[in-house]
Amino acid sequence: MMSRTEFFINSLSDEELSILKKIKYPSYMHNGKLLIDQEIESRGLTIERIETLYHKVVNSYHESGCNRCGSGHLIEIEVGSVQAQGGSNILNVVALLRGRKSIKGSRIECQICGYLIKDDSM
Ligand SMILES: [Zn+2]
Repeated sequence: MMSRTEFFINSLSDEELSILKKIKYPSYMHNGKLLIDQEIESRGLTIERIETLYHKVVNSYHESGCNRCGSGHLIEIEVGSVQAQGGSNILNVVALLRGRKSIKGSRIECQICGYLIKDDSM
């Protein structure tokens, strides 16, 4: 049985995998890092190849998907605001609709390079 992370990493193109390795890799837990490295090794991607793919994709024009890397792996999170206890401060939080939180909009983030495509919490 493949884990969700395993399935995700497996489904990436060589370009996406290269960008993930260059940008979001440090935010992964030990096991995730291991999976990324194993996938890179099994595809025979060298450090040079990763650099080439990264520079080819990042900051070039993308007709769809992420503005920065063109990936379609975007995650949308609902953004709400919550009343701070005992005060009138409104804190912006990224959360699912629950309790006293009210939905303000959403935040769309690229799962490959972390680019924020839309952020209503600002
Ligand atoms: Zn991206």
